[in-house]
Amino acid sequence: MTMPQVSEAERARYQEEIQRGWSRFFEPRRYDCPWCGSTDLTQRLRTTDIMQRKPGVFYLDRCKTCNHIFQNPRLNIEGLEFYYRDFYDGFGREFIDGVFASQGWLYEPRAKIVEGFFGPEGPKNWLDVGTGYGHFANDARKIWPNTTFDGLDMGSSLFTGKERGWLDTIYPGEIDDHVEAIRHRYDVISMHHYLEHVRDPRHDLDVVADVLREGAYVSIEVPDAQSWLGKAFGRWWAPWYQPQHQHMLPLPNLLAALKERGLNPVRVQHREAHIAGELSCAVIFFLTHVSPNPDSPWLPERTPAQRKLHEAIWKVAPKVLQQTFKADFKYLGPAVMRFGGSNAFRVLARKEG
Ligand SMILES: [Zn+2]
Repeated sequence: MTMPQVSEAERARYQEEIQRGWSRFFEPRRYDCPWCGSTDLTQRLRTTDIMQRKPGVFYLDRCKTCNHIFQNPRLNIEGLEFYYRDFYDGFGREFIDGVFASQGWLYEPRAKIVEGFFGPEGPKNWLDVGTGYGHFANDARKIWPNTTFDGLDMGSSLFTGKERGWLDTIYPGEIDDHVEAIRHRYDVISMHHYLEHVRDPRHDLDVVADVLREGAYVSIEVPDAQSWLGKAFGRWWAPWYQPQHQHMLPLPNLLAALKERGLNPVRVQHREAHIAGELSCAVIFFLTHVSPNPDSPWLPERTPAQRKLHEAIWKVAPKVLQQTFKADFKYLGPAVMRFGGSNAFRVLARKEG
């Protein structure tokens, strides 16, 4: 894989930021559950950034009353900017674009969740919130060729999606920036692996309930941290996705929150929403932990020996990954879909009058 050249200025900027310490990236720790207010909390996970290997330690707490899992202490705005930087664009752009492109098999079932709720023509228009480059929209068009697919997201990926012709209308920024423009406009609004990234998921649900017209739908897919796989894989489990995931909602909490807002769940998919690949992800995270990409600008300049080690590891890694992919997609994934323990769920809800 070719990586973009890192300018010395970028590296210098990161090094200067890191030297100032990372504790300033966090809000004060809280002692009550942001979902139900209970003070009966327990630590669920302690981890580091196993995806990019930026510095920092992250904790997830679980509420013993409602099972909500949340980052605690939570990153502040400055921290979110620091850890998201160069993940979806910039230095990480090529890699993440490739990851999304390799996940085509995920997009079809997400598009088909509305099947049976519209005529053969499908929905007239669809807004995908947290759309990234628009990989989902691009694939969903094959299922619903008469549907307009628009996208909303932060960062530069959205503009690339528009250039590629994958997205029709784009809304750069946050959903709050576009409330008037999207109100009563869409047959379907989707949020695939979006709610776990936001600072207050209930606020985003409020906005969706506000902007959907009566009879329109919202489709939400999030990771399921209640899965036994989270215990089996420990901190190497991909759905923890630290430090990006702020809140991990249990299915009953999401269903209740939707109903409270007049959003009636009409289809719930659990086993069929499982995302295979966690074994391969764990291997990639572990190898990154042992030997991160030497060009990463947040790392101090690597020594020749460190570069050699990285090269040697990634010479054999593809062969190892071939085997883990096989195990993931032939055995583990299908077993989970059959026996339960899915790492994600998907809910389609209709706005009622
Ligand atoms: Zn709670």
